[in-house]
Amino acid sequence: MDISRIAVHESVAKACPLELMVAALQGPDIPVEIVGDDASFDAGDCVVTFSPRDAFLNAIWVHGIRAGYDEFDVAAYEAAGTALTNSTGIHGDTVPETVVGYMTAFARRLHIYRDHQSDSDWTQEPYDAPFTLTGEQVCVIGLGTIGQGIADRADALGMEVVGVRRSGDPVENVERVYTPDELDTAVADARFVVLCCPLTEETEGMVDAARLAQMRTDSYLVNVARGPVVVEDALVRALDDETIAGAALDAHWEEPLPEEHPLWDHESAIVTPHVAAFTNRYHEDIAALVQENVERATRGESLRNRVA
Ligand code: NAD
Repeated sequence: MDISRIAVHESVAKACPLELMVAALQGPDIPVEIVGDDASFDAGDCVVTFSPRDAFLNAIWVHGIRAGYDEFDVAAYEAAGTALTNSTGIHGDTVPETVVGYMTAFARRLHIYRDHQSDSDWTQEPYDAPFTLTGEQVCVIGLGTIGQGIADRADALGMEVVGVRRSGDPVENVERVYTPDELDTAVADARFVVLCCPLTEETEGMVDAARLAQMRTDSYLVNVARGPVVVEDALVRALDDETIAGAALDAHWEEPLPEEHPLWDHESAIVTPHVAAFTNRYHEDIAALVQENVERATRGESLRNRVA
């Protein structure tokens, strides 16, 4: 692969400042440029982007700066002969730390106190509301980079970790691994159910009313995967009817989550704007991955994280 330009598409600004990404990608040999929707591409281009555009199919290689690539038309990339790589592998610390934050907030009622703070309200939660994470069970659905990071942290906190994996093979720091056809059993005893699988035909709508009904009434759902893995109405109903205790949602059905959405005001929901992975060094993590692949491409080796 002969790369003569790294084109940073302006959609990257959804994740980090463009100038930081350009600076991090800058090397001695290949020019790095910011491009907009009016740009055209050719066989010398590597495009670094947040969102897909049809014109990218003329480039030799497109790198998506997120782990999920469900918005990209993989078949079209394969047909065009354009390589597509994703950013799996860099979220093993960031997203799991955020998940620990959600679980801690629910367990120690921090989300409630933060709401009360704006009213200078000293009201304490009922005696039986707060609990420790230690000794509680978490079910991690999707035991890849993020799932493993959650399992490691939850185990270190003294939680009982179970998980779901397509192969069902054992995973470090996970006491019991279930297969997707055992999902109902996997979630049944968990205090926290964490979704960190990709959005695929198999996972779309995976958490529906029936599955939510399998969860404990004092359990919490955490979605750091993609919105459509959960059936929206079913979740809102489960929270309204208190058939589960709460939900932390970083991934949504429509983004931004519409202003009138009931979850914004739900006391038992924590809503974050798809930021579980974002830190002040996101650009560095992405640039390291792209640069590693530029070197591989130059040496004629296969690209890491190639999905098409
Ligand atoms: P990964 O590829 O390392 O891991 C995903 C794992 O899910 C893999 O082990 C895969 O085999 C497994 N999986 C696939 N289908 C499954 C199923 N039906 N049941 C159980 N497991 C299944 O990816 P990752 O970096 O861990 O990211 C996982 C997903 O999280 C991404 O696809 C993306 O949608 C989402 N994500 C969200 C954010 C965020 O900011 N909220 C950030 C990064 C990734």
